[in-house]
Amino acid sequence: MLSILTSCAQVETKSKVSIQSSEFSFLVDAEKAQALKSIIDKEMIYIEGIAEEDFKAEIKSLVAAILVVDYKKNNCSIGQIACSTQSHINTLFINDYFFMVPSSEQFTSFLHEAWHLKSTNFEHTKCLKQPEWGYECDDDINSPYGIEYKYLLHKYMHTKDDNIAQLLLKIRSRLNNF
Ligand SMILES: [Zn+2]
Repeated sequence: MLSILTSCAQVETKSKVSIQSSEFSFLVDAEKAQALKSIIDKEMIYIEGIAEEDFKAEIKSLVAAILVVDYKKNNCSIGQIACSTQSHINTLFINDYFFMVPSSEQFTSFLHEAWHLKSTNFEHTKCLKQPEWGYECDDDINSPYGIEYKYLLHKYMHTKDDNIAQLLLKIRSRLNNF
């Protein structure tokens, strides 16, 4: 059960969002906090319905790795919608672009950054399929792009949603061995 507490008196509001046993602090305004809450809320319903207990536990433990979501217009590099850093091991940074992509992509970027935070591994490798992308791919399925791929594949198998299929192909191209 999600609950959200916001104070509208401040320009930047610290909102608390509880998701089952874990709680996020959202350093965002109330409107953005509400948008994030609805994204996570919807995905958590899907996650709770995952029959494969190991996979469900893996996803839930990743979501629990994020304790703070910090939104500022200029967070993260150009081309990124979300990012994380070794110096803030529980924080997901998001920017304006985050709110411009479909909700499935928002949530998988959440899982991607959570994987970085939980593993404290912030490295990627060179893209073999698209060398011009530089060092923003992974070799292993146990990786940030790997978890995005596994989650999207699971969702596609259960929903047959075309938008998820498109995103799945996009993420698949970030995995050198798939
Ligand atoms: Zn990454």
